[in-house]
Amino acid sequence: MFDYHVHSLFSADGKMSMTEACARAVRLTINEIAFTDHVDYVYPGSTLNWEFDQETYEREIVRCESLFGGELTVIRGAELGLHLNSHARNEAFTNSYPFDFLIGSVHIVGAQDLDNGEYFEGRSLDDAARGYLEAVNQCVREYSGFNVLGHLDLFKRYLHFINCKRQDVNWADYQDIIEDTFRVLIETGRGIEVNMSGYRSGAGYTLPEPEMVRLYRRLGGEVITVGSDAHCVEQVGLQLRRGYEILTQAGFNYVTTFRRREPLFRQLRSLL
Ligand SMILES: [Zn+2]
Ligand SMILES: [Zn+2]
Repeated sequence: MFDYHVHSLFSADGKMSMTEACARAVRLTINEIAFTDHVDYVYPGSTLNWEFDQETYEREIVRCESLFGGELTVIRGAELGLHLNSHARNEAFTNSYPFDFLIGSVHIVGAQDLDNGEYFEGRSLDDAARGYLEAVNQCVREYSGFNVLGHLDLFKRYLHFINCKRQDVNWADYQDIIEDTFRVLIETGRGIEVNMSGYRSGAGYTLPEPEMVRLYRRLGGEVITVGSDAHCVEQVGLQLRRGYEILTQAGFNYVTTFRRREPLFRQLRSLL
């Protein structure tokens, strides 16, 4: 199995060291772990440092390789915060280090953070969903320096701020914009991830939903990764198999891994 979304202490909100994450992955017989630590150049209102030092990061990766190399492949990755004002800095950051894999994710819309609820103030469910999906679409169109789009429908994780549930979202209303985002990704050799973090709280969903994974496939999507979005040891590898089942049901017979930002397609049959 391949966990392609893991945060270590190099992320401002990470709670495990790389070695702790690797040890857990080995115990779970995971074959590859992609560290995708946060780089968010635009993070209004946060006092945390959403960047990491590449030299220290490399040293820690090399240490993990020497400790676990025979059993686990360690992938050099990052989760880039996509924002209209961070394209140039993202580009400079990713070009100065030999990354294997890059997730592009929208965490901030305009000057508002989804995570602290600010984004949802005064918005209806429709405003919140549309505003987020439009911000994602614009970033995907403007900036192509990443491999997969992270958690396409992240807004769904925070609907409690407006007393709504994900079941209240009428996906048909957003089909056009989601299709357009998928088309742009596909045309430029990029893909999406299936983020399993929605299962943690017992909420029981993926980001995006299986319906969207099927839509992506129908449109010709090929590049697709599955990741736990783990921030602590207990979350490493969580629900990967369920993610592979969703891929199979959507018509994929492989999952994607990466080396030096180039995709490799791995048969799902042996993972289920
Ligand atoms: Zn994220
Ligand atoms: Zn993440």
